[in-house]
Amino acid sequence: MKKINDEHQRHVYGSEWFRVFVYASLMFGAALTILWLQAPQAPIVPPAVLAGFVLYSLFTITAGYRHPYFGHVAMDRAGQIFCLLSLGPFHAAWISGLSYFLFSWGRLRRGVPLRNTINAVLVNTGMMSLMLLLGGYWYQWLGGEWPLTHIDVHSLVLVVSTLLVMQSFNDLTMAFLVYLRGGNPWKTFAWETSFIEMGTGMVGMTLALVLNRQDFPLFLLVLIVISIGMLVLKQYASIRLHLEALVRERTEALEDQAQRDPLTGLSNRRHTDSFLRHQIEHAKKTPTELSVVILDIDHFKKINDRYLHATGDKVLQHLARLLSDHCRQGDLTSRYGGEEFLICFPMMNLESSRLAAEKLRLLTEQENWEAIASGLRVTISLGVAQWQPGMSVEDLIHEADQKLYEAKAAGRNKVCY
Ligand code: GH3
Ligand code: MG
Ligand code: MG
Repeated sequence: MKKINDEHQRHVYGSEWFRVFVYASLMFGAALTILWLQAPQAPIVPPAVLAGFVLYSLFTITAGYRHPYFGHVAMDRAGQIFCLLSLGPFHAAWISGLSYFLFSWGRLRRGVPLRNTINAVLVNTGMMSLMLLLGGYWYQWLGGEWPLTHIDVHSLVLVVSTLLVMQSFNDLTMAFLVYLRGGNPWKTFAWETSFIEMGTGMVGMTLALVLNRQDFPLFLLVLIVISIGMLVLKQYASIRLHLEALVRERTEALEDQAQRDPLTGLSNRRHTDSFLRHQIEHAKKTPTELSVVILDIDHFKKINDRYLHATGDKVLQHLARLLSDHCRQGDLTSRYGGEEFLICFPMMNLESSRLAAEKLRLLTEQENWEAIASGLRVTISLGVAQWQPGMSVEDLIHEADQKLYEAKAAGRNKVCY
């Protein structure tokens, strides 16, 4: 399935902003000029009717929603075609422009910067007015009538062709806008969205037909049913998006939890093994070094016995922090067993890892453990091993374990390699 494309949502600054501003102003200016020139010939319509169309046009814009796969699904064609087939191109154009003009300022409330909002207002107003002027005069030129009162093959073909002209204009101007913003214009084309917008145009045609037949109660009924349908669709999409985000969030949290040791927050043994497997696969393909250090707290049983078990836990947590604080971003620090830790050093050879291990040994020895319990002292023994071609995860860990055993045998608080 297609992913939601965010090309329209990106904020632009500097020269990109200026390019869009010029483009937007040109469209806005062109729309205003044409409307100004057409105004004297415009049919007279009662202001209340015009106000009703502006309101409905605004409603259809706000009924648009974010679809999980199709990006933004607009419902505005319903209002636009309804207006065009009832009042003609001139009124449809300025009503659509005005509705978008009023609606687009709402971006400020959503935290969109003023300069980007201004561009959006100019682009939307200009583009929508021009689109309806173009579509409207195309419809008129082909002999289309308004107010439309009957449906036949001819009127249907005319309306569909008008919708196609409008959609093409919309897609092209939008693609050029994305190009000016430095995005990929091809990404703006989505057949699904165009198809839905054309379908919404048919809703507008239905409304126009019912209104223009002067059956006002039936018109009200159809208007209410269609509007509720739009709102239900919008609600459904918003619930779905919300649930998807929730599932994603929970899944990530669970995945993270499954990889961690609850006491120290470090990687657990299962995740460490899979991490090591990946590192070894990588080391096989590219000539890179890889080392591991296994370390174990000396006489931890005595610490547990002399102090409380809870103190032992604090020692584990404190040591975990100390280790991860002194490792690099790409290193993996894990609690491999009870009081045993494993650190994986990608791209490090035996000597560098030995030095790192020595630093950790010294840091642990010199740490102020008295803060946890008076008289408490903690040391660690460490075994270092470097991966050699042909070694498995188990071989590598076994080698480091052997070295750890040697460090213990040599009197503890030592690094062996
Ligand atoms: P060595 O120097 O040879 O490693 O001696 P040691 O006492 O550290 O080793 P041993 O394996 O005999 O004891 C490990 C102890 O670690 C035993 C166990 O109770 C304790 N331990 C394991 N997991 C935890 C834990 O999560 N919390 C606490 N407080 N203790 C733990
Ligand atoms: Mg121990
Ligand atoms: Mg142990």
